[in-house]
Amino acid sequence: MSQKVPIVGESCHYCAAPATTRDHIVPKALGGKDGAYNIVPSCMFCNTQKADDYPTCTCPKCQRAVVAFEMYWNHPTREEQASWAS
Ligand SMILES: [Zn+2]
Ligand SMILES: [Zn+2]
Repeated sequence: MSQKVPIVGESCHYCAAPATTRDHIVPKALGGKDGAYNIVPSCMFCNTQKADDYPTCTCPKCQRAVVAFEMYWNHPTREEQASWAS
């Protein structure tokens, strides 16, 4: 869904080149979510370079996304907790 949002006049989050795509700060392949906190405009080069790696950017937004990601894994859903208890 987020991939369909038009990107007009936005700069790449990582290098400030014109953005042509959106990047998941924590890649979906690693369990990153589609929330706005986890998505930034990105040029194709940076998007491809980063691929499915854990984010190395240290800006506040990326740090927040990483913290939210780790919180998610450290605080599983009720369903997961129930499955552990059984
Ligand atoms: Zn870039
Ligand atoms: Zn960043």
